Amino acid sequence: MKPAPFAYVRPSTLSEALTALGEDPDAKVLAGGQSLLPLLSMRLAAPSRLVDINGLPDLDHVTCTPAGVRVGALARHSAVLASAEAAASQPLLKMALEHVAHATIRNRGTTVGSVVHADPASELPAVLMLLGGSVDVEGPSGRRTIAADELYVGPLETSMRRDEIAVEAFFPALVPSAGVAFEEIARRQGDYAMAGLAAHVVLDGDRVVSARAGFFSVCDQPTVVDLTGADDPGAAAMAHLDPAADIHATADYRAHLVRVLTPRVLAAATEHARGRAHG
Ligand SMILES: Cc1cc2nc3c(=O)[nH]c(=O)nc-3n(C[C@H](O)[C@H](O)[C@H](O)COP(=O)(O)OP(=O)(O)OC[C@H]3O[C@@H](n4cnc5c(N)ncnc54)[C@H](O)[C@@H]3O)c2cc1C
Repeated sequence: MKPAPFAYVRPSTLSEALTALGEDPDAKVLAGGQSLLPLLSMRLAAPSRLVDINGLPDLDHVTCTPAGVRVGALARHSAVLASAEAAASQPLLKMALEHVAHATIRNRGTTVGSVVHADPASELPAVLMLLGGSVDVEGPSGRRTIAADELYVGPLETSMRRDEIAVEAFFPALVPSAGVAFEEIARRQGDYAMAGLAAHVVLDGDRVVSARAGFFSVCDQPTVVDLTGADDPGAAAMAHLDPAADIHATADYRAHLVRVLTPRVLAAATEHARGRAHG
């Protein structure tokens, strides 16, 4: 199928882009197009105007500071994945991005686009939530920061206002006493996962003082569960999750994957933390 007709604008400044977005209530931002264009082609979305942000300056950065990794709205998944500095600051970014789609899609799709598209099957929203990251957005009344745990309000739904543009995502650095791990089950490499999780463990000496996991492709939005001290992490996780059924997997199968993967990924994150602590 072909998309329904739409107007197309490609502004060259952020303020022009905000104006173009604000003056049409049915307008949508176009970034890498790797999620939006399939939706248009299947006529699951029919915006009257696309505001292409690819001509905006200064948004393609991947900047590392001691606090963490700042990813601009036009940084492609592949650029974030290729950044050795980003991988050193927050290894979970690389671990997750390796599972996002295929190389050709990662060359075009943006990390910020993935974060704000809020697909419950996507890796990055769960990673951002687990790490306590945030997104900076610009709107008619200026810039604001939305914490990841206030960003996701439903499947494909965020707390961003319709006339706002996300300009940057922030992924906090991994502190020296912490470790992370990631695993997902997909039918083929590059497919969306049938279920997956990222884990974040903090040690005090050799003792685990915090163990949390961020689940994606399990419920209808990314979900972080605190599993500190749980004897059976899989069962403890399931007490907070309500797996969804779709054409890719039944709810029972997703629950099974949660029970199997959770202890495994937590153990790997603990090993990672111990390895980092011992040098
Ligand atoms: C075959 C295939 C497989 C894929 N597999 C995976 C996968 O395994 N895991 C995964 O996570 N993703 C997967 N993707 C999606 C891919 O990661 C996309 O790049 C990503 O979801 C969206 O980024 P984008 O830049 O392409 O956004 P677009 O498609 O341009 O936009 C997506 C949505 O976000 C909005 N948006 C984008 N950027 C902004 C912004 N800066 N401000 C405000 N709104 C914005 C758009 O208006 C739109 O609603 C796959 C895509 C394809 C085609």
